[in-house]
Amino acid sequence: MFTLPKLPYEYDALAPIIDEETMLIHHTKHHQTYVDKLNQALEGRNDLVGREVEDLVADLDNLPADIQTAVRNHGGGHANHSLFWRILRAPMEQNNPDGDIAELIKRDLGGPAGFKDQLTAAALGVFGSGWAWLVLEQNDKLAVVKTANQDSPLSAGQRPLLGLDVWEHAYYLKYQNRRAEYVNGFFDLINWDEVNKIAAS
Ligand code: MN
Repeated sequence: MFTLPKLPYEYDALAPIIDEETMLIHHTKHHQTYVDKLNQALEGRNDLVGREVEDLVADLDNLPADIQTAVRNHGGGHANHSLFWRILRAPMEQNNPDGDIAELIKRDLGGPAGFKDQLTAAALGVFGSGWAWLVLEQNDKLAVVKTANQDSPLSAGQRPLLGLDVWEHAYYLKYQNRRAEYVNGFFDLINWDEVNKIAAS
């Protein structure tokens, strides 16, 4: 059985960029629903017990056909949100990448400004619901990609290092249709220490 991970901070920790009510609903309702529906879909599938959600999502094509869609949507939703909460922290201005990830961003994306431009373009380029990502490709180079719905880069053989949720449920209460303002604020929330840990793991 999968369970909702606790947030590593309080619901109001990301304010004013992400408000407390949005965080509360996003975590306890939206993310919880992905967990519940994933558990429902896997009920009685003893062949899959004990596998991590990231492993299931990465192995989508080899799963039994009748659960692929549920794992893609709800497993993806669980994996994506679990990563999202982890790479956020209280707002910091001038929040540039540091450590090893800063070197990789310089090498592969043209530095912090290139990263911000590319992630912003990806986030604003998602039509409808989806995510923008910083990923490690199989050639060990960084790339910025976007996915639709709850699709995970893991299903495409990429390793997500950070993700930005651009479903309307992530920002609509505070920003309504102004996705660009929410995306701009996101850069002050990135926990680069955690991104470095994810990249090193
Ligand atoms: Mn979400």
